[in-house]
Amino acid sequence: MDLSFSENQLLYVDTVRRLVKNEISPRILEMEKEHGFPWAIITKAWEMGLVNLCIPESIKGFDVDVFSSALIIQELSYGDTGIATSAMCNDLANVVISRHGTDRQKERFLRPFVEKPLLASFCLTEPGAGSDNFMMTSFIAPRDDGSWVLNGSKCFITNASYASQFTVLCKIGKPSASFMACVVVPAESVIAADLPDVGYSTREIQLSTGGRILIGKPEDKLGQRLSNTASVTFEDVILAPDQIIGNRRFGFKYIMDVLDFARPMVAAIGLGLAKRALDVTMAYTRERKQFGQRICDLPVARDTLVAMWKKVELAELSLWKACWKIQKNDKDAGIFASLAKNTCAEAALFCANEGLHLHGGYGFTADYEISKLARDAHIIDIYEGVREVQNMIIGREIV
Ligand SMILES: Cc1cc2nc3c(=O)[nH]c(=O)nc-3n(C[C@H](O)[C@H](O)[C@H](O)COP(=O)(O)OP(=O)(O)OC[C@H]3O[C@@H](n4cnc5c(N)ncnc54)[C@H](O)[C@@H]3O)c2cc1C
Repeated sequence: MDLSFSENQLLYVDTVRRLVKNEISPRILEMEKEHGFPWAIITKAWEMGLVNLCIPESIKGFDVDVFSSALIIQELSYGDTGIATSAMCNDLANVVISRHGTDRQKERFLRPFVEKPLLASFCLTEPGAGSDNFMMTSFIAPRDDGSWVLNGSKCFITNASYASQFTVLCKIGKPSASFMACVVVPAESVIAADLPDVGYSTREIQLSTGGRILIGKPEDKLGQRLSNTASVTFEDVILAPDQIIGNRRFGFKYIMDVLDFARPMVAAIGLGLAKRALDVTMAYTRERKQFGQRICDLPVARDTLVAMWKKVELAELSLWKACWKIQKNDKDAGIFASLAKNTCAEAALFCANEGLHLHGGYGFTADYEISKLARDAHIIDIYEGVREVQNMIIGREIV
């Protein structure tokens, strides 16, 4: 296992660091308070080639490997995990098309993302089907002319208010069916100038091909306030047969595939946050003096800093191992993806909470970034499969 970075990877890291240093960090607390949608940064990231990492070179995408993708996402998350979540969501929605779509489907559904800074949504979770995806009731039913009609409601969907395309997991034939399909619903193309900020409004999309999509009011969240999250309802949406990706009965298998790719990306989000929490806490405790010494020199406080550093380093190793396993296509890559997701989420929560503690009362105010990081950290242990689900995956394989 080679732990050195290639020239390309060093270039990616340098590029994202510049974006974070110049565009995100100087204004992050202000932007987060304003709670607007960070279109300007996402558009800039797109211009710099840091979004749509999974799109194949055959249609002028970057086809970035898993390890480099994790590095990019981690560095972006060091700036803000909400922005990173929105940016990464395009790959979450599009990787299934990259891997299982036909050449025509890739051309039709992926090329628009190469040409314009558009956003996509990945629609899996439903009100009654969170960790237990199989309980979903959204479904497609066949029509006499060979087309299909999609009905159902999804919740907690990232980018929904601004999305130009939706990748949807649904049952086939009836809500209680055993098989799932993965379908793509392109909508009107939306860039920053078309829809700068929806605020707390709903959005309705009438599809020229038939049916409509209703996007709910954006969720008012504890953290990651710079990512957009809303419900999505599909009402009598007509689909042509080529909007179904791959074998229409293999949807569940495709989700597992997507999640094995996505979990290291969420791990990378957690690692970026953990590193940021460690760095801001280190800086604060080097400045602040109590009992005649810098806080970082007080033995018990230093123990906490060491514990934070250890969590970060171990989390990073777990992420690299998962990426290495996925890149080699190892059979057991999935459990290492789950291990990385849990280890990085734990590092994020630990570093944000302990970091806040080391800031004392100041850490509890909105003036210090550590309070935002503590709010943001919770979701990393929840989305893309809660901690217990990762343990279930690992437990199933190792015993
Ligand atoms: C900001 C945000 C962005 C999101 N983005 C997306 C998105 O883009 N697309 C999408 O499809 N979804 C998205 N989600 C949904 C997210 O993936 C789900 O919230 C998550 O999978 C958990 O589902 P749930 O909320 O229904 O919790 P539940 O499944 O109801 O679980 C609640 C709790 O029950 C416990 N639990 C659950 N299962 C088990 C088990 N097997 N064993 C033991 N305990 C268990 C855990 O403690 C868990 O935290 C997003 C959510 C948020 C908040």
